[in-house]
Amino acid sequence: MRGSGPRGAGRRRPPGGGGDPSSTPASLAGCYSAPRRAPLWTCLLLCAALRTLLASPSNEVNLLDSRTVMGDLGWIAFPKNGWEEIGEVDENYAPIHTYQVCKVMEQNQNNWLLTSWISNEGASRIFIELKFTLRDCNSLPGGLGTCKETFNMYYFESDDENGRNIKENQYIKIDTIAADESFTELDLGDRVMKLNTEVRDVGPLSKKGFYLAFQDVGACIALVSVRVYYKKCPSVVRHLAVFPDTITGADSSQLLEVSGSCVNHSVTDEPPKMHCSAEGEWLVPIGKCMCKAGYEEKNGTCQAPSPVTNVKKGKIAKNSISLSWQEPDRPNGIILEYEIKYFEKDQETSYTIIKSKETTITAEGLKPASVYVFQIRARTAAGYGVFSRRFEFETIPVFAASSDQSQIPIIAVSVTVGVILLAVVIGFLLSGRRCGYSKAKQDPEEEKMHFHNGHIKLPGVRTYIDPHTYEDPNQAVHEFAKEIEASCITIERVIGAGEFGEVCSGRLKLPGKRELPVAIKTLKVGYTEKQRRDFLGEASIMGQFDHPNIIHLEGVVTKSKPVMIVTEYMENGSLDTFLKKNDGQFTVIQLVGMLRGIAAGMKYLSDMGYVHRDLAARNILINSNLVCKVSDFGLSRVLEDDPEAAYTTRGGKIPIRWTAPEAIAFRKFTSASDVWSYGIVMWEVVSYGERPYWEMTNQDVIKAVEEGYRLPSPMDCPAALYQLMLDCWQKDRNSRPKFDEIVSMLDKLIRNPSSLKTLVNASSRVSTLLAEHGPLGSGAYRSVGEWLEAIKMGRYTEIFMENGYSSMDAVAQVTLE
Ligand code: AMP
Repeated sequence: MRGSGPRGAGRRRPPGGGGDPSSTPASLAGCYSAPRRAPLWTCLLLCAALRTLLASPSNEVNLLDSRTVMGDLGWIAFPKNGWEEIGEVDENYAPIHTYQVCKVMEQNQNNWLLTSWISNEGASRIFIELKFTLRDCNSLPGGLGTCKETFNMYYFESDDENGRNIKENQYIKIDTIAADESFTELDLGDRVMKLNTEVRDVGPLSKKGFYLAFQDVGACIALVSVRVYYKKCPSVVRHLAVFPDTITGADSSQLLEVSGSCVNHSVTDEPPKMHCSAEGEWLVPIGKCMCKAGYEEKNGTCQAPSPVTNVKKGKIAKNSISLSWQEPDRPNGIILEYEIKYFEKDQETSYTIIKSKETTITAEGLKPASVYVFQIRARTAAGYGVFSRRFEFETIPVFAASSDQSQIPIIAVSVTVGVILLAVVIGFLLSGRRCGYSKAKQDPEEEKMHFHNGHIKLPGVRTYIDPHTYEDPNQAVHEFAKEIEASCITIERVIGAGEFGEVCSGRLKLPGKRELPVAIKTLKVGYTEKQRRDFLGEASIMGQFDHPNIIHLEGVVTKSKPVMIVTEYMENGSLDTFLKKNDGQFTVIQLVGMLRGIAAGMKYLSDMGYVHRDLAARNILINSNLVCKVSDFGLSRVLEDDPEAAYTTRGGKIPIRWTAPEAIAFRKFTSASDVWSYGIVMWEVVSYGERPYWEMTNQDVIKAVEEGYRLPSPMDCPAALYQLMLDCWQKDRNSRPKFDEIVSMLDKLIRNPSSLKTLVNASSRVSTLLAEHGPLGSGAYRSVGEWLEAIKMGRYTEIFMENGYSSMDAVAQVTLE
């Protein structure tokens, strides 16, 4: 049970509050006495103010709000001369249900007010918000001996309305309610009313409903309103997944895992999930849905280019068939190209695909006198639509002349094709300055792919292709990244400095698409060809990935200057800076949510066969929903652009503090060495951006790690997380967990937040610290505090003192054991 305000019976409010001391006690409880003692407008003013003040947030669902009940509340008071209802109406003639009691002059008061039965509507944790005024006993003339400044609130669970006649002692006490010092003052001219708000919660509830009861034992109270509600995480659509209204859990620290369902025409790789917190907030989004091929995302929904319907044959020869068709009725975006699939009838396993930007093609190299099946589909920026129905056409026999029957249509088709071509050419010329994607010219052979029993992989089967394997790096860029017209981009401000030039934020508006906030990396003027290649290399890599925890590439600008890489915008920038700025501000669950996201992104990369080599908090970006995404995919970046990278004895440049020993020693970079780096990122996250190994030199770090030393647990670190870090830092790389195991483990912790409550204990942290830093020159310092400050661990001074290490002599005598 938790209260929103300070608790405690009989707390006194500041003197001087609460009404006119010359009034009789019965008139002193507050506004409720106004109808008899003060003009009606004072109460109307109070109630109108209340109605504006008290609109419920959207994640709260009212089970009862006494202010909105139009008829009789049906509450019962006993004894009958205890609590009494003040029957007034507001300016709309709606009843104002205020109950008062003020028997401060009489001994042994025990006045009960029982609500009617309240259904909990399936919620197992409910909140009760009370608005009341409570008279300060000091201000009452006489009677101080019996006057109280508190009242009690109780509940009784019952499945139906038959439990009303239960005895007082069957009610369970929720709390003693006292007036809070934080109150709303409503200046009513001659009087100042102090309206207190107190909230209590009750749970877990196991029956269908409950009664509430308010017990007065001799105070002067006006209960102005009672609102009973539960909290829910309101239905949302995130990443194309619908998450339903979800009632929060019974426990105040419980997170409910909720599965989202993909909106129509979308699918998912990793099922979308979110967690509903006890406060009614959605936390830790996982996975996402993506529009199916051919469907485009628009305002949280997917619509597709409709299928091509009108396919006509043109010239038919013995080895070729020409076709033409019209743009789909509903392109739902700009059609970038068409894909034509054809095969000899009944030979579907051996088919050919041709891509064309135009609405005509000629399929060549066909067998004479054979029937061929054609299907066509359109592609927009969002992907492919569905294939058209099958169209069958037959080539002519070897000895026949060109197809006679098509002579007349040929003329018509030629005219049509000519007109279409002319239109396309004019359109092309006119659209020359408009913005949009244009597919880079490719070797015509590349446009035609043959498939036999799946020997060539269809698009969509994912493995990372190293752009180095392309002879021409420009080809790789255009294979994996869309070309964007510079006129679609608005640069707004500089947000960072990259190795190749400035990083800016801005907006991207592609035709037929919503405007997006984006980050724009620019290539500075005067670049060398190698710099251009390396710069665009990152886009060639990034463009191959599609995962909610990997930074998403929107496209590249290569046809004009400056050359740019355009990615999704991450409002909170790089994770290390963000954590340093917000030291101590997040719940453990939020931190684990960040780590889970990074691990999911890394799992995806390792599944794709991509080894990152420079995984560090500085290379993770974080957005406004605290979703973390892996970034920084330079071709040779580890060697070149990371300021943390240092030359090793073998000549390589490596970010020592983040890198596994085998990668430092003999350049063995694998997903297992990425797991080591992930452990360091975990440490950075839990310690809010602390520098791993503090001010130790790289040489000392290499030596210490080789000798078996590991980073000590960050402060307040859940034991389960530190254990996972240590697992990631196993010397034997095969013993380290795989990324999918890390993701599952973090999911388990998120589902069971109580498992994160056990923290690494202070004394074990001290011994690790001593093991880490004791041998490293501690003799040069005069005091333990000075030494700890020097190694940036001043915050541990208290723990050292508590554990008996109060002098440098004591520290110097510590052995590793
Ligand atoms: P980089 O060259 O990728 O290391 O980027 C340099 C800096 O620019 C980063 O440290 C971020 O602060 C910022 N930055 C890069 N990409 C983005 C993005 N997509 N969204 C927001 N900030 C970014």
